[in-house]
Amino acid sequence: MDSFNEKIAQAAGLIKNAKSIAAFTGAGISTESGISDFRSPGGVWDRYRIVTFQEFIASHEARVEYWHMKNELFTELKHAKPNSAHNALAELEKIGKLRCLITQNIDGLHQDAGNSNVIELHGTNRKAVCITCGKLWAIEDIQARLETDGFDPRCDTCQGFIKPATISFGQAMPEQEMTKAYSCASDCDLLIMIGSSLQVEPAASIPREAHRAGAKLIFMNRTETPYDHLAEVLFRENAGEVLAAILKSLKQYHVK
Ligand SMILES: [Zn+2]
Repeated sequence: MDSFNEKIAQAAGLIKNAKSIAAFTGAGISTESGISDFRSPGGVWDRYRIVTFQEFIASHEARVEYWHMKNELFTELKHAKPNSAHNALAELEKIGKLRCLITQNIDGLHQDAGNSNVIELHGTNRKAVCITCGKLWAIEDIQARLETDGFDPRCDTCQGFIKPATISFGQAMPEQEMTKAYSCASDCDLLIMIGSSLQVEPAASIPREAHRAGAKLIFMNRTETPYDHLAEVLFRENAGEVLAAILKSLKQYHVK
């Protein structure tokens, strides 16, 4: 078993020598920002049942239930700030070492930290969308009228159902985002995966695709993933601390 410092040096070396780095993040990167992993006990999704896209379309009751869940989630998200792992990824982009960032998260914290090229596979909680005409709103504007609209807001242009701009169960993955993600993964020579247990397809196929195309992989996740054997370097430690140590080590190589 490699010691922590050896692994840091190895990861820093990979980053130093890489020409094109991609990052792939999941819920685990945001837990330290006070956002409960939605699968964990007590998390929002533990207390509400999952409303599928089909139910949302078909039933007023399902839409009301869904909006109540989201309303509670937004209150949690409002206070969330990027943590040291988000900030380290922003720093990597700033020093020209991160080309693109693919995320399963819908919390917008990568953009808050300062990353510009963020591919959101599951959409974003920062916006709401009319599922008929595609009109977009800031989520705050819709949240402000939830009570008045009986938790079933409608589009003022076409009367279509308004939904947070996230991808629900039963809803197709956004084609354009998936295409961008695959091209980001297959064009990189190093992929850093943080905070995903790689259980959900097709998102889990992103690191696989990078590996297939010849990229090296660095994994940072508290728990095992089905693809740990593909990783060059594997960390179980806190991602914020790991990334801070890697950035410090990079400075010794005069990568700034
Ligand atoms: Zn509309």
